[in-house]
This record gives sequence, C-alpha cells and structure tokens, in this order.
Amino acid sequence: MLFKKLVDVFEKVEATTKRLEMTDILVSLLKETPHDIIDKVVYLSLGEIYPPFIGLELGLAEKLAVKALALATGVKEKLILEELKKTGDLGQTGENILSRRKARPSLFREELTVERVYSTLEKICKASGKGAQELKIRYLAGLLANAEPKEAKYLLRIAQGRLRLGIADMTILDALAIAFCGSKEYRDVIERAYNLSSDIGLVARTVAEGGLEAVKRFRITIGRPIKPQLAERLSTIEEILEKMGGECYAEYKYDGLRIQAHVSPEKVYLFSRRQENLTEQFPDVVEAVREAVKAKEAILDGECVPVDPHTGELLPFQVVAHRRGRKYDVEKMVEEVPVVYFVFDLLYVDGEDLTLKPYTERRERLSGVVTETSRVKLAEYIVSGDAAEIEKFFHKAVQEGAEGLLCKSPKSLYEAGKRGWAWIKWKRSYRSEMVDTVDLVVVGAFAGKGKRAGTYGALLMAAYNHEDDTFETVCKLGSGFTDEELARLPEMFKPYLRDTPHPRVKTIMKADFWFTPAVVLEVIGDEITLSPMHTCGMNAIRPGSGLAIRFPRLVRFRSDKGPEDATTVKEIVEMYNRQLKKVE
Ligand code: AMP
Repeated sequence: MLFKKLVDVFEKVEATTKRLEMTDILVSLLKETPHDIIDKVVYLSLGEIYPPFIGLELGLAEKLAVKALALATGVKEKLILEELKKTGDLGQTGENILSRRKARPSLFREELTVERVYSTLEKICKASGKGAQELKIRYLAGLLANAEPKEAKYLLRIAQGRLRLGIADMTILDALAIAFCGSKEYRDVIERAYNLSSDIGLVARTVAEGGLEAVKRFRITIGRPIKPQLAERLSTIEEILEKMGGECYAEYKYDGLRIQAHVSPEKVYLFSRRQENLTEQFPDVVEAVREAVKAKEAILDGECVPVDPHTGELLPFQVVAHRRGRKYDVEKMVEEVPVVYFVFDLLYVDGEDLTLKPYTERRERLSGVVTETSRVKLAEYIVSGDAAEIEKFFHKAVQEGAEGLLCKSPKSLYEAGKRGWAWIKWKRSYRSEMVDTVDLVVVGAFAGKGKRAGTYGALLMAAYNHEDDTFETVCKLGSGFTDEELARLPEMFKPYLRDTPHPRVKTIMKADFWFTPAVVLEVIGDEITLSPMHTCGMNAIRPGSGLAIRFPRLVRFRSDKGPEDATTVKEIVEMYNRQLKKVE
C-alpha cells in the first residue's frame, strides 16, 4: 500500500471539524487496507508504531530530524532552522523545503510504501548504543529523499512522535465496527477485546481477518495489559450501600500508583493505569511480586504506595510520582522511596480468566495466590452492610494515610476499561460542597493581559463526555499557577496548538488559542453552577444551560492521566445534583 494513500487520509482528517466525518474517513481507509498491514496502518494513524505497553516510542530529537532533512535535500541546516523558526513545526518546514526544491525525476525516486515507512521507523525506534544517532539520521533521510512534500511533512511529525491528529482509540473502534461488522452497534464487542489487550493494532487485525466471531474469541495474554476498571463516586455511605444492594466490600483507597502485575515463569511485567510499561522503573516491585505470587501465571491489580522507610507509614502519592519515567538512578530511588504493593484483585491465574467471576470469588482466590510479605500486601477491607461500621472503617483508613474507601459490589465482574457503579469511591473531601477535585482537560486558552502578557491569562477546561467521546467546557482556569508554571504554559502547549477547536471539543466560548485535548489538570472549585456559557451537561438540568465550576484553582498537573481519564460530564452532573440535595 502506498504511503501517499495514508497521507491523503491524514490531510482529510486534519481538515475536518466533525467527529462523524473523521469516522467515515477512517472507515474507507480501513476497508481499503490489506488485512496483513492493517495493524501498522492503525498504529501510524495514531502516530505510534507499537501499543504503549511495549515501551518503545518514536521521539526522534528535533536536532536529528533537522540533520536528516538536510542530508536528504542538500539544504543547509542553518536555512532549515531559520524556516523552522517561522513555522514552529518541522513537518511544515519539511513540506515547504521539498515543494521549493526542483522535483527529482521520478525515475530516481522510489514511491514510498506503508510497509517501508513502518519498518524504517521501527529501525529508528530500536537503534541504540554507539552510532545510533548517525543511523537514525540516515534511516530518516532515506525516507525523506524519496518523499513527496506532503509525505515529508507527516514523516517528520511521526518520527518525532508528534503526529497528533487527535484520532481517539474510540473513533478507530467505531470505524472498525462499521468497516468489518457492518454497524457501529458492534463496537462494544470490539471494545472488550481492546480492553482485554490494550493493543488496538492486534484488535484491528483480528476483526479484519476473522470478523466478529474472532473478536468474541479474544483471550487475555500475559504481557498485554488489561485496561483497569474505574470507580464512580458518591458522598454518603447510605447512597453507596443502596447502589450496592445492601452490602459491599469496603477497602482502603490507597493514594499511590495503579499497577497491574503480570507474572509468568519467565518474566514479571508491570503496567501503569495507562498501560505504560513500568517494569524497568520498579525492579523492587518485580522482585517482591515474584516472591509473593504462588502461581505459575497470574495477573494482579493493585496500588503501589510509598512508605516511610523509617516509620513504615504511608506517604503521599507525589513521592512515588517521582519514580515514574526515570530510566536512571533507579537503584537510588529504590532505596530512597521504598514502595509497598497493595493488591486488591486477581484477573487471571494459570490459564483461567477471572474477569468474568464475581468479586467475592476473585478476592478469595487472590488470598490463595498471594502470600503477604513486607513489600506485597493484600488491600485492607471489611465486608459490611452497616453504615456506622463502614464509617468507622473509613476513619481508620484516613488515619492510616489512605484517601478514603473504595466500595465494591460483591457480585460484580471485572469491567475492564469501564467506570461504573460496581466500584464507588468515598473520599474524605466529599463531605462538603465542591471540596473534591476534578480532573479536567485543557482544550483552549485566552491570551494574558498586563502582568500575564506573553503567556496565557486562563485555560479553557473541559470534562469528558464518554457517551459521545467529546470534551465539553466547564470553566476558565486562571488561578493556582505559580509564576514559573504560568511562564512555561505557551511552550508546553505549543505542540498541541490548532487554528480551530478540535472536532471532539464542544464549546460556545471563543478562546484565543485552541489545543488538541491532551493535557489533564486536577482542579478544585467552590461550587458547580448553571451556566449558558459552558457546554458541560448542556440541557441536562435546565434547557439552554450547561454547568460551570465557580472559582476554579489548579491543584496539580496530572501527567499520569490521559484526556479520556478526565472526570466525566456525567460525574459533574451528579456532583451538581448532590450539591442541590445538601442545600435543600
Ligand atoms: P480515582 O483515580 O480517584 O478515580 O480513583 C480510582 C483509583 O484509586 C484507582 O485507579 C486506583 O489507582 C486507586 N485505588 C486505591 N486503592 C484502591 C482499591 N482498594 N481498589 C481499587 N482502586 C484503588
């Protein structure tokens, strides 16, 4: 398949402002793609070459990409850099330079195929050690020398890990359902396969080659992370018990890092909540899991929490956040920030998929598979239907450094990748108005004035609408930033800049800058009010009105969360309703 075809699709996707149109474009692409390379086409459309858990990402340094462009075109690096200053995007710069160059006679050019582009990018990704930089430059230059201007634009962006077309996984799943099962209504079946494997390329290939039946037969495998189940929230234990049918598992809600551990005789893998491979960063956890698990193969779900090595007390999450993304100094960190892995679920054991078994059974099997040690412990819990008893347990949890409780329905199955009422969190802060924080996505910004000239005055924040897969605005955020953070904002958001609102963003407000939804911030406000200016929950409470967060302030940057992990519109509507109840 010619790379040109994919580039045409990228151009169309960039030009569209409607999500449905984006799906249609992808459906035709998938239908025309040969089945044996459909996985590669899907990864490339997302700007990747592997699923996230492989831990190999494209991210060629700009400096090297500039050198590759110079080598391929014969244009001096200095001139390329000058052009780059003007465009701010090396992809665009590459396209401009190639269009100005006299076209090379096609006799000397080999048209690029998707296969060749993919395998060369793979080589760029894998090159390491001495001479790797030189090799990477040469590989990319080889592609650029044969590229048309538009192809060069996307090659340069992909190689740098900056494609950012804003195509969501859900849009691809929709497109797969339409292309290979005939209707969007089959997305749920395909989505389940995706939630069990986190590998969208594999899912695409399976459905393209074997249709719906093959997707239904999809199995869990060690080494491919399962998407984690997520929790809803409520503010009183009575409401929680009602939802749970009278009784629940009330567990400590540890404030750490969600980690899914996969154990096989050969290897232990650790995955984050977003399916990144954390194995190398937590060798101590790998060792501890190996020691604690008494099964040949198992998949555990749990939370990694830092502990004070001197007192054994639980420490705040921020401490363990430092250990993510560190490739070096791992040994030092292991000593300085020891962690305990609190496990609360068993998803798979020795060939048996437990995700379709009730929680009671999974918890029971878990205590048979894990032998507690000083570094691996079973999450504390009680099973109760007595509100007073649960409240007492809640205070104990908070006193011991947990955030609150996570209540789980005894009969519930493991709903991979889903946020539902089977798990409900109850945190300390839910007890008064909006003292609870929300995680919101940055979708735009307003230019700063006066002291803030040159940076942003406020960011336009949105909640995630899971049903429509869109982002709906809920407030303008301008407080809580340090001067340093404020100054850094324009640079930080540069890669996400766009001329118009992203097709997945629903907005009435007109911002000065628009961004591809990517960055998540934790925000706190005073209360939630009705507002005709924001689209979050539009018409849900009152016709013509959405919901807004009053006096929002930044709590922290949440680089561990993706835009689809943000607080949902549904949650905000519920928070508003609960607030009302309190006033009444
Ligand atoms: P939140 O991030 O506020 O939506 O809360 C859900 C998160 O709480 C999960 O993703 C886990 O990382 C964490 N957590 C802590 N303790 C537990 C527990 N006992 N069961 C499930 N999740 C837990």
